[in-house]
Amino acid sequence: MMNGLKVPFSSSFIPQPFLATTSVLMPPSTSFVAAGPTPPPSSRRVAVIGAGASGLVAARELRREGHRVVVFERGAAAGGTWVYTPAAESDPLSVDPRREIVHTSLYDSLRTNLPRECMSFIDYPFSSCLSPAGGDPRRFPVHSEVLRYLQDFARDFDLYGLVRFQTKVERVERDRDGRWQVRSKRTGDPGEQSEVFDGVVVCNGHYSEPRIADIPGIHTWPGKQFHSHNYRVPEPFTDKVVVIIGNSASAFDISREIARYAREVHISSRSEPDEPSRKQPAYDNMWLHSTIAGTHKDGTVVFKDGSCIHVDVIMHCSGYKYDFPFLETNNIVTVDDNRVGPLYKHIFPPLLAPSLAFIGLPWKVAPFPLFELQSKWVAGVLSGRIAHPTVKEMMDDVKAWYSEIKAAGWPKRYTHNLSNNQFPYNNWLAEQCGHPPVEEWRQLMYVATSKNRIARPENYRDEWDDGHLIPLAEEDFQKFLGHVRLS
Ligand SMILES: Cc1cc2nc3c(=O)[nH]c(=O)nc-3n(C[C@H](O)[C@H](O)[C@H](O)COP(=O)(O)OP(=O)(O)OC[C@H]3O[C@@H](n4cnc5c(N)ncnc54)[C@H](O)[C@@H]3O)c2cc1C
Repeated sequence: MMNGLKVPFSSSFIPQPFLATTSVLMPPSTSFVAAGPTPPPSSRRVAVIGAGASGLVAARELRREGHRVVVFERGAAAGGTWVYTPAAESDPLSVDPRREIVHTSLYDSLRTNLPRECMSFIDYPFSSCLSPAGGDPRRFPVHSEVLRYLQDFARDFDLYGLVRFQTKVERVERDRDGRWQVRSKRTGDPGEQSEVFDGVVVCNGHYSEPRIADIPGIHTWPGKQFHSHNYRVPEPFTDKVVVIIGNSASAFDISREIARYAREVHISSRSEPDEPSRKQPAYDNMWLHSTIAGTHKDGTVVFKDGSCIHVDVIMHCSGYKYDFPFLETNNIVTVDDNRVGPLYKHIFPPLLAPSLAFIGLPWKVAPFPLFELQSKWVAGVLSGRIAHPTVKEMMDDVKAWYSEIKAAGWPKRYTHNLSNNQFPYNNWLAEQCGHPPVEEWRQLMYVATSKNRIARPENYRDEWDDGHLIPLAEEDFQKFLGHVRLS
């Protein structure tokens, strides 16, 4: 159960091989690996937008398949959201359209919320044993360790030569021949460059465009508002009374960190009942409330649980929106209440498949291995080595998924929440590509970490019960050590 809602499909994380009734899960009879004499795979010219984890692994897989790849990256470094900067956006709420965009949403103290073994790409170990001198060998390391891992990945697979840094994609649209025109602009250059590609793989991330909570009376409330996208360090909150909206991983970390400096921290969570607020165990200045009923000119915030507090700062930890400002598809692909669709398997718009693909949309997942399998599939489908279903079959599959979401009582915005379905989804992708299923230890580790986060919310990153799985991961990693330069 999540937020009182039923999770669609099987509630087991352990893959229940290809449950035939589900739409995300294809029954084995509808595997699309091309049968019979396979046509020679064709090489396409493909634009990848973004050089974060998804863009890097997409570039690697596309090139492995023989495609000619250009990666456009508006930033100056590879690694996407893991490229931390202490700078935040000029508008702390990130609503001013004229603001300069800062891509990362990391805060200075951030440590991963997944164990490194589970996070790693399938064939490129993220092992404590490989952490260099001066690195962070902990199982849940700081963000700089993840950035090092991704940049090592780019170096070891020779991806840097494919990336055009400081080059922002401004516009992507189809021309009359069904090819894609990509207009990009390099920082400092006066004009744009226009090029034509056979395929476009969108890897622009989805943690940069904040979603702001709707709060009654907020326009006359005199306090300061932030979105967690712009949170970096706790010191500015010293002696303040702070409301944190949300109960995500970021809300959890930020509330704990701010509580060491602030006078009071009040967490407002949709999943809390409208009952009297509760003091958080182990904190004498932190309370958990239901949602906000209203804010007032005198600076007070009233919660639906009846409490009324004079507040200095409201921090929105209310998540992010999918956003593709550069993409023109004549409404073939739309974003509606954070549903990007229609997308077959969260990747291909049926009417534009396979020349347009999205990597990295699913959430509540272990992202890197999922990106890797999505990328392998996209690369194989683009070359024609792996067949994809007809437009009607793909549309039917999307509709079936939407019906299941609706039947489960999930809102549209949970369309890409894979939750318990990520491993069957990964295994479906793996099967399409002729790749072995995801390692059992990885699935067990993901489940154990989810449970440990609930059992030990304050110290799950340093105490765990699944240590017996680490040697299994390390044993598996041995197969891939050839890829890793031990620097
Ligand atoms: C606070 C936070 C904590 C997280 N913690 C974890 C964790 O512990 N473990 C984990 O596995 N995952 C974690 N994640 C998830 C993380 O987002 C993924 O791990 C992964 O990094 C996403 O990669 P991506 O490539 O899809 O997107 P991003 O990393 O966001 O990369 C997208 C890239 O696209 C570029 N781009 C965007 N638009 C354009 C354009 N128009 N033109 C050119 N380039 C463009 C951006 O500059 C960026 O480099 C966390 C995310 C956040 C926000």
